[in-house]
Amino acid sequence: MTQTQALTKTLVFPLDVQSGNESLLYDARLECRRVFNEVLRLNYDGWDWDEVEDVVEQNADLVQNTAQRIIDKAFDALNNYYDNDDWGRPWYKHETFPLRMNYGEGYNLFLEDETVRFRISAKPYNHVKGELHGTQDQFNLLTQAMKDDDWHVGTAEALCRNGREELHVTVTNETAEVGTKTAADTIVGVDINEDCVALATLTESGIEDSIVIDYPEIKEERHCYFTMRKRMQEAGQTAFNDVFRDKEQRFVHDQLHTVSRRVVEWIRRFDSPVIVFENLKDMREDIEYGTRMNRRLHSLPFAKLRDFITYKAAWHGIPSDDVNPEYTSQQCPVCGHTERANRHKKRFKCRECEHQDHADRGAGISVAQQWLRTQEDRNVPALNTLPQVRKWELRRQASGPVDGPTVTHHTVEGYQTDGVSGVSDQSTGRSSGA
Ligand SMILES: [Zn+2]
Repeated sequence: MTQTQALTKTLVFPLDVQSGNESLLYDARLECRRVFNEVLRLNYDGWDWDEVEDVVEQNADLVQNTAQRIIDKAFDALNNYYDNDDWGRPWYKHETFPLRMNYGEGYNLFLEDETVRFRISAKPYNHVKGELHGTQDQFNLLTQAMKDDDWHVGTAEALCRNGREELHVTVTNETAEVGTKTAADTIVGVDINEDCVALATLTESGIEDSIVIDYPEIKEERHCYFTMRKRMQEAGQTAFNDVFRDKEQRFVHDQLHTVSRRVVEWIRRFDSPVIVFENLKDMREDIEYGTRMNRRLHSLPFAKLRDFITYKAAWHGIPSDDVNPEYTSQQCPVCGHTERANRHKKRFKCRECEHQDHADRGAGISVAQQWLRTQEDRNVPALNTLPQVRKWELRRQASGPVDGPTVTHHTVEGYQTDGVSGVSDQSTGRSSGA
């Protein structure tokens, strides 16, 4: 039995421009930035948004609905700023802005025997033409989206990345099939932390496997950003905030995407899985926060990573669910004894049965057990021995872009009391423990 839902994916195609007017794309992106800035300026001057929309759209040197897409982006940025007063204020910039277009209006695609041709209306009555490049998987999805009634092609962005012209096309499957949670054979308990995510897979007969994926740089980057921001606010500077915020958000976003891809790859190896998270609302109440800043600092990666994992898993038909996290991090997965003193940072030692574990991996197991307990007629297995803790660590390469991170894979042998702080990542020489 399955349920259906709409899923959208972004496909990235390098462009082979054959009409000899690549500079037109660059000009259009500068015009998009001018339009974006103009919306901000008029807004800060106190104009009504209806008026802003009319005036900016009329003066834009862009196809009408492309201008609308850019104006929408500027309104989104402003809404974000007004809804979250601890975000930086959107500011004027002098770089290009992605050319955002409606399918069939701002851009069009044409299936041919061996290739897909594109036509981008960069400026009114001025087209850029050529062929898409890309992987077979992407072409298959695009072809399906163009032909199949249950699919559609959505907006696209033309942008330049690492000196390469690209078209990012969104495709939506209106009736994607996702497995039924209650029928799952493998329960994947997920414990998301500031610096790692722990996964443990459980069936009704016992524990299958577990892994801890470390991402220390996300924590470092975010702490660094928040400290810098605080200093700048104290010094009364706001204009530079924006640059750092964008940089930090892009970095965290890219890293979380990579982590979520790894997570889903790992989960796909198991039979009929369901992914179980702790309920976020309850989890937030569980953590003691000092300031509002702290709350934001600690809460953001939980929600975002969870969304990315849920979403990527759904593309593979894997459902997600959540449980009340009551004491999951303090409960012993072996004897069930629950006590705050069981856990000390990354170390878990049961005060009752003396079972020892990596605390986050243990929490992952507890989450999976908790979910089984909430299901009718399901057996919660007794756990005597647990598999050794395996680790992956995500690190950016010494040089080069974030989209090629280093993932090291190693096994911790004979897990011991001091195992956590003793685990060292051989490729970087850094300790991956607390
Ligand atoms: Zn115990």
